[in-house]
Amino acid sequence: MPPILVSACLLGLQSRYDGRSKRNEKVFSYLAQHDLTPVPVCPEQLAGLPTPRPASRFACGDGERVLAGTGSVVNAADNDMTDVFIQGARETLKIARLCGCTQALLKERSPSCGVHQVYLGDSIIEGQGVACALLRQEGLHVCSEEDL
Ligand code: SF4
Repeated sequence: MPPILVSACLLGLQSRYDGRSKRNEKVFSYLAQHDLTPVPVCPEQLAGLPTPRPASRFACGDGERVLAGTGSVVNAADNDMTDVFIQGARETLKIARLCGCTQALLKERSPSCGVHQVYLGDSIIEGQGVACALLRQEGLHVCSEEDL
């Protein structure tokens, strides 16, 4: 059963900023169909953030731009969270390597986990979260629950 990194909230863990989960039955079906072992990760918790916590969004760019040094993330209290999100992405990558994960299934539109879309302010734009961008840079194949 090969390992796959999965956003913890999709597996029913209450890791979201609002203290809730986003359990997704399609994710469980996919894991069973493909005989995959999920490795739950929450990049924001791995960065040391509390749960619940203020929601965060991109203020500039997306995860790829953040890693390039030209994007930024802010939270609802207007604190710059960019470095914290980079730290969470790095910790997530460490777990991927420790567990031998070559693929990841992440929550769409999160500033950490988004795969195809993220929030820039109040708008949804094409882009990826910070952890997703780092995992892809490091060669993992990443999809979202909306790809299933
Ligand atoms: S950072 Fe990712 S795993 Fe954590 S709550 Fe947000 S979407 Fe879920």
